[in-house]
Amino acid sequence: MNRRAFLKAVGAAALIPVLPRRVVAASANFSRRRPSDAAWPSEAAWKQLNEAVGGNLIPVEFPLSVLKNDPDSDAAKLLLKNIRNPYFVGDQVGLTESLGWVDAWATKPSVYAVAARNAHDIAAAVNFARENNLRLVVKGGGHSYQGTSNAPDSLLIWTRHMHDIEMHTAFVPNGCERTIQPQAAVTVGAGTIGIQAYDAVTTKAGKYVQGGGCLTVCLGGLIQSGGFGSYSKHYGSAAGSLLEAEVVTADGQIRIANACTNPDLFWALKGGGGGSFGVVSKMTLRVHELPEFFGTANFTVKAASDEAYRGLIREVVSFYREHLFNDHWGEQAHVNPENTLEIRMAIHGLDAEQAKKVWQPFLDWVADSSHNCSIEGRVTIGSIPARRWWDVQWWKEHWPEIAFPRDGLLHGLLDDVLLHVIPQPVLNFDNRPDAGPNNAWWKGDGGQVAWFIWGFESLWMPASLLENDAQQRLADALFAASRHAWFELHFNKGLAGAPPEAIERAKDTATNPAVLTSFALAIVADAQGPAYPGIPGHEPSVDDGRKARARVHECMEQLRAIVPNPGAYVSESNYFEKRWQQAYWGSNYARLVEIKKKYDPDGLFFVHNGVGSEGWSADGFTRV
Ligand SMILES: Cc1cc2nc3c(=O)[nH]c(=O)nc-3n(C[C@H](O)[C@H](O)[C@H](O)COP(=O)(O)OP(=O)(O)OC[C@H]3O[C@@H](n4cnc5c(N)ncnc54)[C@H](O)[C@@H]3O)c2cc1C
Repeated sequence: MNRRAFLKAVGAAALIPVLPRRVVAASANFSRRRPSDAAWPSEAAWKQLNEAVGGNLIPVEFPLSVLKNDPDSDAAKLLLKNIRNPYFVGDQVGLTESLGWVDAWATKPSVYAVAARNAHDIAAAVNFARENNLRLVVKGGGHSYQGTSNAPDSLLIWTRHMHDIEMHTAFVPNGCERTIQPQAAVTVGAGTIGIQAYDAVTTKAGKYVQGGGCLTVCLGGLIQSGGFGSYSKHYGSAAGSLLEAEVVTADGQIRIANACTNPDLFWALKGGGGGSFGVVSKMTLRVHELPEFFGTANFTVKAASDEAYRGLIREVVSFYREHLFNDHWGEQAHVNPENTLEIRMAIHGLDAEQAKKVWQPFLDWVADSSHNCSIEGRVTIGSIPARRWWDVQWWKEHWPEIAFPRDGLLHGLLDDVLLHVIPQPVLNFDNRPDAGPNNAWWKGDGGQVAWFIWGFESLWMPASLLENDAQQRLADALFAASRHAWFELHFNKGLAGAPPEAIERAKDTATNPAVLTSFALAIVADAQGPAYPGIPGHEPSVDDGRKARARVHECMEQLRAIVPNPGAYVSESNYFEKRWQQAYWGSNYARLVEIKKKYDPDGLFFVHNGVGSEGWSADGFTRV
């Protein structure tokens, strides 16, 4: 029986206004309203909301419709031209970076969106959604792989335009005047994306703030999921650097959350999952010192046979433990089914000579042909001044020099093995006529824009597997996993090996404590793109997708077999994860549930596999 029929049957409709709201929303069968419901807000009500948010209520169109309705039109051509540009996608209120996931979700627009400018706009939208029993959804950068920033028939709060940034030399969280020393910090609007923060903090101010590796991930979503960037092995998780948040809770209150004021909410916002506890309007993050150099080590090793590949993996495990298991080395190694190992690592605080020296024994090992391994292509080990790492204009001006070094701009080159600082072009640029000057994205992240996911899983890899007596077991599992799919070890997303203070900060977050004792996060994913159901020529391949999902799963099962209590990173994980509470938050889950009950007792904020989502239907509309 639906809710209206139920109320009619028991004659209780007249009681609704006098029932406390939480009792209404907490009752079984409670359903949120859809546009087809008679009780959907009237035009006049929407008009009032529009006035309350300064005219920033937008009826949401679905940009992909033109590909179905008028595929030969100029508009369709323009859309296809831009669909792999993450800035174009991010600018569309009705789109998300991933377009869907086979058998899981496909992006759908909300009915209306509030393009919020500040916490008051957000509060107006939260109050409107709560009072009208609407499904509410929050979108920042739209980078959720799990589709948690889109929902049909909903009201969207969109933070895209909230990217004011303010540096502080001596910030003290509100109410902490007696307990916390003033420190360097930066306050960013919740919609600030990585490149905006790096430009202000690193390029302009010569400091460091922990954002994501991907330049278009938004800090609002990143911090609430934990958040790792290329140099997290040195600075810790993004959540660990949060000093204070301004957040609108389900009751419409604008609250400050920090270590002294609403400390429970503050803790939950640090990794408890985006879109579950409230809408963050701004955040203040600790600012760190920059090293002199950031750099990269980039090369591929090919093994001639399965046996040689086993040997290569075994060697790299022990080499990692001995030489790379520290805060200088982040980012990735890719383990491929074609018996190739790709090193794609980021370097913190070493110049190229120092970095080259670290790798030399391994390169010598490869060069010794008895191992049946060889370098494919170039070896690139180089550094640049750290302050230029995210300086888009610097990259634009210097890339010819970097590609063809002349004058010692690059620090130390390995002549014998061929050096060339960074493969070019490393950045793609937004070429739309009205694009911002810093609209750039790493080439490596470009493949994910507008993709339709087939499978995605992750696993924190305990550092205990690097002990001498466990290394063979780890190497065997890595080899076994590589028989099923290409996977990646993200060393910057496991904090074992990080400085103690970075680990301490991450310990005081809601992220699964497994992150503290893991040397890496293993990630395996497969997808196609651009694809979306119903678009001729761009249909998702469901059969291929299901097969790929099985391969992805088998791959990760080989690694899970050697990991007790497997944990996964909430933001980069399996939509179909069965034990997600344990996997994402481990022993922190029970505390998160209590905080959810305190600040959002009626479950206004719902996301797939988010804290408290067990009480709702899969679409977040109905109490179960
Ligand atoms: C190409 C790509 C690269 C990535 N690289 C990295 C990486 O290097 N490191 C890493 O740690 N992760 C990475 N991720 C994962 C990413 O950090 C998370 O998906 C993150 O949550 C995205 O935040 P967003 O605001 O951009 O996305 P959204 O999809 O807008 O938001 C993600 C979730 O947070 C919620 N949310 C967003 N803003 C707010 C807010 N202001 N208040 C409350 N809830 C909010 C949304 O409702 C949603 O549930 C990557 C993802 C992609 C697609």
